[in-house]
Amino acid sequence: MEGIAEQGLGSCLDHQGSGITLSWLTPELVEDLNALVPGGVYRDVPLAQVSRWRVGGLAPLVVAPGSVTELQQLMAYVSRRRLRYVVLGSSSNLLFADEGLEVLAIHMGQRLSDFRVEGNRVWSEAGLWVPAFARRLARAGLTGAEHTCGIPGTLGGLICMNGGSQRKGIGDHIIDVVSVTPEGEKRIRSREECGFRYRTSVFQGLGEIIVGARFRFTSSGSPQAIRSEMLTILGQRRRKFPRKLPNCGSVFVSNPAMYAQYGPPGAVIEACGLKGMRVGGAMISPLHANFIVNHDQARAADILTLIGVARRTVLERTGYNMAAEVCYVSPAGQIIPAHVKAEALCVPADVERLVAEPQVVSGTDQ
Ligand SMILES: Cc1cc2nc3c(=O)[nH]c(=O)nc-3n(C[C@H](O)[C@H](O)[C@H](O)COP(=O)(O)OP(=O)(O)OC[C@H]3O[C@@H](n4cnc5c(N)ncnc54)[C@H](O)[C@@H]3O)c2cc1C
Repeated sequence: MEGIAEQGLGSCLDHQGSGITLSWLTPELVEDLNALVPGGVYRDVPLAQVSRWRVGGLAPLVVAPGSVTELQQLMAYVSRRRLRYVVLGSSSNLLFADEGLEVLAIHMGQRLSDFRVEGNRVWSEAGLWVPAFARRLARAGLTGAEHTCGIPGTLGGLICMNGGSQRKGIGDHIIDVVSVTPEGEKRIRSREECGFRYRTSVFQGLGEIIVGARFRFTSSGSPQAIRSEMLTILGQRRRKFPRKLPNCGSVFVSNPAMYAQYGPPGAVIEACGLKGMRVGGAMISPLHANFIVNHDQARAADILTLIGVARRTVLERTGYNMAAEVCYVSPAGQIIPAHVKAEALCVPADVERLVAEPQVVSGTDQ
């Protein structure tokens, strides 16, 4: 099954709950949340069914607001009760802990996906599915976001990560971003205030929730030309990236200095002889070495070990420390670059043994 935003939560959830005991998770709390966000409260969400990597334990309580007002009331309540929370889009860039979550998850998905065009200006809510965003822009004859057409996430996640492809980022076309603060206040930030840099923005680690953004694109007058450009991009992605086995897209961000000297992360990891290396149910993709695929019920720990091995081997061979684009979500709801968690887990002896015994497999069935 696909991510939360694409499928809707209902298909994989049990509204009744399975009786996990967490001190903050009381029947009164669930009742209050049901009153604040009617139809948007879910118990015991199996993150392994929701995340793109198909990894992770249970999320005991997920709330998916259906309007900005609901979100504001929810945040005011969460702040009054001093509840800890984590913000999720479609989880396409996240590696959940095998233990699952011990905090409330707030999911921004298809319930908040309003989209409006006025001339070359666009307003879109954060829960909109990114490929649908790109298709709607194409239909309106607006050019500039073709590079996002194959990215399987929500617009809020894309803005938070300043995601994109072909060395572009969604931030390039933003006029301003509307968010809700942890206390439930609405806030508008201009593009400059969003701090967009390569795959980062001010929203990472801020605790604010992006509800939507205004964009300015260029009118091309030719939806057909835009569609054809998008088809080319999708074709290239299909050829280059693993599609059948669960993965989270590129694991490491490209470092310009390493790129200039040795090439992109995938080429460097491949040159280190790590393509096809397996740990447990996880494998460095034989098709593209900057992807880690879940080929057989991988655990988060398997994926983190491979991230640690790739990072350390590349450091030893090139002198460059690669940073992960993919983020690890701890049970306490902390979101950190996955390499930071991998470093904490991966002991040098493990690395030496694994690098000495890579298991190379064929790249055909991914
Ligand atoms: C097959 C595949 C291919 C991919 N290709 C690309 C690519 O080409 N380029 C690229 O940039 N990425 C790519 N990705 C990664 C991922 O799709 C993007 O980072 C995406 O934009 C994340 O969106 P999401 O809704 O899944 O966010 P999530 O993974 O759920 O969250 C990512 C981060 O955003 C935060 N967040 C999510 N929604 C909000 C919100 N509304 N307000 C505040 N914070 C929020 C989360 O807290 C988290 O820190 C790929 C992933 C996969 C699986």
